[in-house]
Amino acid sequence: MPPTLEERLSLVREGVADAAAQADRRADDITTIVVTKFHPASLVRELHALGVHDFGENRHQEAQAKAAELADLSSGIDPIHWNFIGQLQSKKAKQVRAYASSVQSLDRDSVLDALAAPSPALDVFVQLNLTDDPGRGGVRDEEFEPFVERVLQTSGVLLRGVMAVAPLDEEPRRAFARVRAASERMRALAPTATAISAGMSGDYRDAILEGATHLRIGSAITGNRPVAG
Ligand SMILES: *Cc1c(COP(=O)(O)O)cnc(C)c1O
Repeated sequence: MPPTLEERLSLVREGVADAAAQADRRADDITTIVVTKFHPASLVRELHALGVHDFGENRHQEAQAKAAELADLSSGIDPIHWNFIGQLQSKKAKQVRAYASSVQSLDRDSVLDALAAPSPALDVFVQLNLTDDPGRGGVRDEEFEPFVERVLQTSGVLLRGVMAVAPLDEEPRRAFARVRAASERMRALAPTATAISAGMSGDYRDAILEGATHLRIGSAITGNRPVAG
């Protein structure tokens, strides 16, 4: 019998605890965001019943629809939080504010300007592009500090840290060491922006060893994603 959702969640929780112990870190300092893209709202409801509060989505329309369907879970004593982790069009950015508690994929001026608001503050992470491909999401290394400065000057966004996806052609631990170095550069400009969102199903242990505070884990918990509709 294939493992159940609850069993997959337990396995990942054990994996996180193991890697945290190996890194001499507290597992409680690491937030696991369960990426539910392509999965129905019902799966989010099941995960919430299993104690998950942090969810990740990478497409605005899908995220907006799920948040609306699950509006009852967004309030009360045990609310869920939506984290936006995908490419965002600037004309949709304002709408994301309505349901998301963080945008982790911030990487361009147009989206930053669209997210600017008098209040309340939206948590943002600056995404790094760890590849040489400018078509990938994320700011390039030479744009990093100027972009961080610009985020700090924008009202209505609260800079939390860096986010990155490890490239397919690089050893993940090495890639995450580069993310850690970028995090140090960010903290030189913004001492409270200490978060590091890194690590997915296949590489979250390496990310924890390099200081990740937020993991974005999909298939290891949800099982394979349904084919995109
Ligand atoms: C889909 C996705 C994930 C989760 O990927 P898995 O390999 O299923 O864990 C994490 N981060 C981003 C940006 C994603 O798009």
